[in-house]
Order: sequence, then structure tokens, then C-alpha cells
Amino acid sequence: MNPLEIIGRKRDGHEHTPAEIQRLLEGYVKADIPDYQMAAWLMAVCIRGMTPAETLALTEAMVASGEVLDLSAIRGVKVDKHSTGGVGDKVTLVAGPLAAACGVSVPKLSGRALAHTGGTLDKLESVPGLSVDIEPERFIKQVREIGIAVAAQSPRMVPADKLLYALRDVTATVPSIPLIASSVMSKKIAAGADAIVLDVKVGDGAFMKSLEDARRLAESMIELGRGAGRQVVALLTDMEQPLGWAIGNAVEIREARSLLAGEDSPPDLFALAVQAAGRLVSLSDLGIDAEEGARRAERAIDDGSALDAYERWIAAQGGNPSLEVLPDAPVRRELTADRAGFVAGVSALGVGRVALELGAGRRTKEDKIDHAVGIRCFAKRGDPVAEGQPLAEIHARDDTSAEQAAAQIRPLIEISEDSGPPRPIVLETLT
Ligand code: URA
Repeated sequence: MNPLEIIGRKRDGHEHTPAEIQRLLEGYVKADIPDYQMAAWLMAVCIRGMTPAETLALTEAMVASGEVLDLSAIRGVKVDKHSTGGVGDKVTLVAGPLAAACGVSVPKLSGRALAHTGGTLDKLESVPGLSVDIEPERFIKQVREIGIAVAAQSPRMVPADKLLYALRDVTATVPSIPLIASSVMSKKIAAGADAIVLDVKVGDGAFMKSLEDARRLAESMIELGRGAGRQVVALLTDMEQPLGWAIGNAVEIREARSLLAGEDSPPDLFALAVQAAGRLVSLSDLGIDAEEGARRAERAIDDGSALDAYERWIAAQGGNPSLEVLPDAPVRRELTADRAGFVAGVSALGVGRVALELGAGRRTKEDKIDHAVGIRCFAKRGDPVAEGQPLAEIHARDDTSAEQAAAQIRPLIEISEDSGPPRPIVLETLT
């Protein structure tokens, strides 16, 4: 069957055979099929959707397009963690070392996201000296010795996703559950871990705006994991407001480190990181359930082993783990409440966009991130506020951008007469 017929079958709502999907993907990777044909097929998928069998076939074809990491040299069950991405999301930076401190092996490969703020790799690169480009042998050795390594995924792994994602980005075909599920899970499967904890974000700052869509995406990813013999647990978590206080790169590293050191930390980040670590522990071969895993993670913070795991991890990747060396923005500007009341909401998407304008994220792949800038947003939904109380602190390169950011953030923090219903950080857990 030629590509035109395959595209026409999806346009007309038919189910593809695995061979059709393989033909399309292989042809695209080899550049036999041009962008315009692939874009037409992607749009047909966005409109018509895909069955679970088609989504699995697409995922398998994506994995087969490149190398797969062999982690068999690491003993026991290897556990990975992945987030669908959100504003202020530094959970990996906390849950990873927490799980490592509990004795779990966490080999994690990441991509470099094009987003409001940097991805985990960009945040890590705010640590002077730290490298995320680690060859497989060293990566495996580090996981064996320290329990955790976080590295950039090799371009030789899942090249089909790299090509497809770039095309989706410019053809309005990113928001499709089967395309997102196969994109994420093909990379997780190729990265070699036996079990995966997925953090599926829900809210205005996330791909998935509704709980129903987030549930459908999580179920699809769990199914794909099962199809590839991996155990997957998905946490559906709130992204209606930024996670934690810090949004940026170095500011997020500081916040993650403070939490691990047992210092004053945002309760939402603490709750999510400890629960995610509990799930990582429960999927490993330690024979511990998620609740006991979470308790052990909390104990690791109290007894100093979590901070120790973090410092050993950062040092193993060439970074200096002390706080003093992190880049600091030259200008700080505080934003205070102009009236008393309760925080009714803080737009995650809005705050993420302001962080991007400050320089904390990328608009295009070529943009350089300013690791020092960012925002610390103390206002959290439901909090009482007094007039004059600090709501946020802007870390900027100069006075003009600080003033601009302050003016943009003020309307994003809604203050009302009453506190509204509470919303937990973990909305649902799917196993
Ligand atoms: N993250 C991915 O890796 N792929 C998508 O399609 C969306 C988010």
C-alpha cells in the first residue's frame, strides 16, 4: 500500500494494520515520505484518533527506529520517572535522590523540552560543571554506585520521535492522546527501565486540561507499558497553579535541594515528591508498598541520607552541589498583595509565560536559557493573604524586565473574599 492510500484510510476512519504504520514511519525516517504527507496523516490521527492496537503498533515502530539502552548490567528492578511537563515541576530533582537514598536504582534519560521553563536537563545545567551528556557505560556505572543518573537521551534513540515531534510542533498536531502516549512511552521503553512512574499533569499549565483527558492519556500509557512488559503507575496531579514556589532553573535547583535538606519547603512539592518517591520504591524489588515507601522517603530527609544522595549524584556528574555556586539574578523585585483576602487561583500557564519572557525557557530550539532568572511565587490557592504580604519574588536580569514581569504577574494571582474548596496535589493514582 502506498503512503497516499494509508493516509486516506486514516482520513476515512479505518483502523491501520501494524504493517501500514511501520511502512509510514520507516518511510518517514528514511525521508522517502515527505513532511507534507506525514503532516496530513498526523492531522488525520488528531481528528480520527487511534485504537489501542494502532497506538501500540506506532509505539513499537518508534522504538524500533533506533537504539535501545541495555541496563542488564544494573542488578534488580530499574525504575524511571517521567512527567508530562508543568510549570515549576522539579519533582524528578527531589523524588529521584529520595528513591536512591531508599536503595532504588533510578536510571533516567530526558529530552530537552521546548517549554515555558527549561526541562530537567536545563535545570540541572544551572549547576556549574554538571554534565548531562554521559556515555552509556558511565551512566550504568553511576547508577550502580550512587543509585541515580540523569542524562540526555542519545539522538540515536527513538529518532522517529524526534522527527515526528518537530513536525507536530509546527503543524498543530501535538495535542492528540495516542500521539502523546506513543511519543512518551517509546522513549521510556527505549530507555530500558523495568518500571515507570508517570506524573500526568492536569490543568491550565499542562497539555491535559481536564481530568478525563489526563485519565485517558494515563490509561493509554499504562497499556503501552504493559504491552512492552513494563510496570507503570500514573499519578494524575494538579497543574492549575505552579508546583512549589520556584519557577525557573537555578531557583528550582535551590528549592529541590532545600527540600532534601529538610528546610522550609512548599507543601505541595513536598507531598508530591514524597508520594512519587513512595511509588518508585514500591515498583522496585525492595518488597515495600507505596505508603511505606513514602514514609521511608520522609525518613531519608530527616536522617540526611536524601541530601547525601543528591550531593553524590550532582558531584558524580561533575557538578558542585553547594548552594553558593548557583547563578543568581542581579535584580530581585518583590510583589505584594494590594488587598486582603484569599488566593482564589494562580494561573500556571500565565506564570510560566512570564518566566519564559524573563529568559528562563526557550521559544525556539536555538534560544539560550538564562539559568539565573525566574520567579518565586508564594501565593497558593486557598491561602489567606494580608494587604502588603509578599505574593511573589521576581529574579530578573535588569530592572525593566523585573517591572514588566511584576505587572504581568499581578493579574495572574486572583484574590477573592473566600477561600474556595481545597484541591489535593495528587488527584488520582492509576495502576
Ligand atoms: N512529551 C513528549 O515526550 N511527547 C509528546 O508528544 C508530548 C509531551
